[in-house]
Amino acid sequence: VFESNLRYEENTHGVLPYFQKWTYLMPLRNSLPKVAPFLYPQWSLVLRAWICTVISIGALFLLVPQVAELSGLLADGDLSALVKKALYMTLLIAVKSVGQFWQQALLWEAALNITYDVRGYIFEKVLNRDMAYFEGQGGAPIGDIAYRLTAEAEHTGDTVYAFLHMLVPCAFQLAAMAGRMLLLSPILSVATILVLPFMSFTIAILGEKLRRLSRKGQDSVANLSAYLNEVLLSIFVVKAYVAEGYEQMRFKKLAFVDYRAHLLKKKMKAFIPEVITAVYAATAVVLFGVGTWVISKGGFNASGMISFVTSLVFLIEPIQAIGKAYNDLKQGEPAIERLFELTANYSKIVEKAGAITLAKVSGDVKFSNVFFAYGDCPPWVLSNLHLDVRAGETVALVGPSGGGKTTLAKLLLRLYDPVHGQIYIDGHDIREIGLKSLRREVGIVPQDIVLFTGTVLENIAYGVLPDQMDFKAVEQAAGLANADEFIRKLPSGYHSNLGGRGSNLSGGQRQRLAIARAIYQNPSILILDEATSALDNNSEKLVREALDQLMRNRTVFVIAHRLETVQRADRIFVINGGRLVEEGTHSSLLAEGGLYSSLYTYKAEIGGLSSHPF
Ligand code: ADP
Ligand code: MG
Repeated sequence: VFESNLRYEENTHGVLPYFQKWTYLMPLRNSLPKVAPFLYPQWSLVLRAWICTVISIGALFLLVPQVAELSGLLADGDLSALVKKALYMTLLIAVKSVGQFWQQALLWEAALNITYDVRGYIFEKVLNRDMAYFEGQGGAPIGDIAYRLTAEAEHTGDTVYAFLHMLVPCAFQLAAMAGRMLLLSPILSVATILVLPFMSFTIAILGEKLRRLSRKGQDSVANLSAYLNEVLLSIFVVKAYVAEGYEQMRFKKLAFVDYRAHLLKKKMKAFIPEVITAVYAATAVVLFGVGTWVISKGGFNASGMISFVTSLVFLIEPIQAIGKAYNDLKQGEPAIERLFELTANYSKIVEKAGAITLAKVSGDVKFSNVFFAYGDCPPWVLSNLHLDVRAGETVALVGPSGGGKTTLAKLLLRLYDPVHGQIYIDGHDIREIGLKSLRREVGIVPQDIVLFTGTVLENIAYGVLPDQMDFKAVEQAAGLANADEFIRKLPSGYHSNLGGRGSNLSGGQRQRLAIARAIYQNPSILILDEATSALDNNSEKLVREALDQLMRNRTVFVIAHRLETVQRADRIFVINGGRLVEEGTHSSLLAEGGLYSSLYTYKAEIGGLSSHPF
């Protein structure tokens, strides 16, 4: 966010840049190309709207001379002719109003359809972005992304509407009225219309300022939203550390930045219409001056003058509308830019064309000379890593925290690609395998348990569409994870809603739900990342039995587990500083007297065997 703020801090002083970059005059030069593909499918609505425009402005075109004729009839006192004229004019006004109503309704429908489509498109793109994007390598904070997809996507509709409205209805009315005026008096028209380019230019410059200010305002709201998201999700810690005052101070700082950005923007928004009005007033003065002169020369009569002024009144309507639309465009443009920024520098982890789908996986896993770092360059988080795990084996990954065990799991899920080296499943380089197919076969109980607001059922059968959910299998999975009993005690059993992200459950219960979720997925390779760390001895024993069930017929990676599970693993890999430092069974490693043995002895001394070893 801060980086993108900076990009928009380019030099904005002086008028010269505006001359050089004449394209500022073109509204939407940055965002129109992005929105254009979404515009085409709405052509029929837009066309119908514009037909309504033609009808309503046609009525207006006919209406203008009637005003002067009406005043003529008033002077004559011919009552029946007067009534007829009045009825005719009422009809024209009605046609104009109804036409304009439909024009707006249809244009809004098109604009909101586009908002809907753009939102769906961007959300899909965001979901499919690399893990790195979300874990802080160049991505926007979550609250910021949420803000862009909600409030800012809303601006897309306003902007598209303003654009479609300006493109035809305003321009058409402007042309029609200017045409009328030209017919009435060319000299007077030229005098009036000469002012317009000056006005457009002023509006363009101010509009560009407004765009920059809007961008700042939107960035600051997004920052605020990202901040709030983070603090409110961590409210427990805020309270426990009595950090309310501190957070209030941080909030005020961000809110003040927002305040300033918006104050400037609002001032600019108030300023632009006033400039337009001033120019309009100047036009009127010119008009009356020149008008009086033309009349005195006999080139014009009073009724012509009335028609001319009426035209001018209706000419100013689209001009003001253009001014407003221009405001909307210039405010909306940064919103569209920010929205589409979410799709910029897109993913590196993509499926190859012709990627294979795994049918029956036996579960051989091989890491071959793998080097990895989150920033893609040394220092390595994993280096020179060789692992060869046979199908059906249970291996334990142990070692000091920060050694790279979770990272190894992320690589196996292909959330990241190794910088060097390959990872194979059943002999296939995982980069050759379709992402869905791969991730269906690799199940994980993550270190940080994630539950969603929703029912227990939805959480266990996560990602499964309601009509494909197998309730029996869910119960079975919960039973195996030793979660069935506590779930049944919840107010509505499996249909109980979890509080905000499962906050109404204990750590152990959350962990058992996560295990049930992995069991339900039934993958051929399972990764348990500290999966029983939050369980008490009793439920840990029960879960361990469940895990024993689970470990049959699949390859299992148990990361830094309780000693019993680690001990019973077929092989133990000790990972330290991203390197595989020891490998063997519990007894062979103890005999070796290396890192494993010292960690084990240390733990055995301080806490007994069933405590968390590493
Ligand atoms: P373990 O699971 O063994 O405790 P991790 O795999 O979580 O260790 O972390 C290994 C190293 O990678 C640590 O030094 C950690 O700081 C770093 N690391 C983990 N995740 C990220 C990330 N998303 N971006 C940058 N560095 C990371
Ligand atoms: Mg870890």
